[in-house]
Amino acid sequence: MREAGRIVATTLAAVAAAAVPGCRLLDLDDLAADRIAAAGAKSSFLGYHPDWAPVPYPAVLCLSVDDAIVHAIPDGRRLRAGELLSIDFAVQYDGLHADAAITVPVADVDDAGRQLIDTTARALDAGIATARPGSRLGDIGYAVQSVARAAGYGQPVGLGGHGIGTEMHEDPSVSNTGRPGRGLPLRPGLVLAIEPMLTEGGRNDHRTGADGWTVSTVDGSRAAHFEHTVAVTEDGPVVLTRP
Ligand code: MG
Repeated sequence: MREAGRIVATTLAAVAAAAVPGCRLLDLDDLAADRIAAAGAKSSFLGYHPDWAPVPYPAVLCLSVDDAIVHAIPDGRRLRAGELLSIDFAVQYDGLHADAAITVPVADVDDAGRQLIDTTARALDAGIATARPGSRLGDIGYAVQSVARAAGYGQPVGLGGHGIGTEMHEDPSVSNTGRPGRGLPLRPGLVLAIEPMLTEGGRNDHRTGADGWTVSTVDGSRAAHFEHTVAVTEDGPVVLTRP
């Protein structure tokens, strides 16, 4: 999973660096697909077809701009300065998956956008810090929600993280809200994808677009999304998707 995580981390960095004004979303997807091939890995997203989706996922990246929260399909549109781009990416290497996401500013974003990005990254860090033996699943959600609520941001209900290993999505589901000391005890060997999504408008609802995949805010406000694949070890959390 470390090797899968390394491929995810380096690819995310390359895609983020290429996400400049005028760049087509499909070009970023091609870049990630080339990286996957060069690494001898497999996309976890391409062809993924959960029960609720009308069609299999057609790309290797999810590229969600501004009010799109997650799962947006790359198309031919070009990035514009000031947009918030959320990049979600996962691969399978030697039968094991790793999954991560970042939100980056396209050129310069306004202060509010920057604050949304920084706060969502901080919410992820807070969640990761609790992913250690002796904690429970509710501690992760509580840590994430505490950062989100202190800043007045919303958290879309029903969207969250997951266990990960031989499948991209495994039990348990990792809520971005929770009560401290409640839920599954975290034990060494458990690997979780922790992924806060915060919305600028402060609402907790979301809607799914006509393509059956794109999840967006209802009020049109912007969203940010950060994710890491994190192993619970005797020595504490180990982030597998950090370069
Ligand atoms: Mg995930």
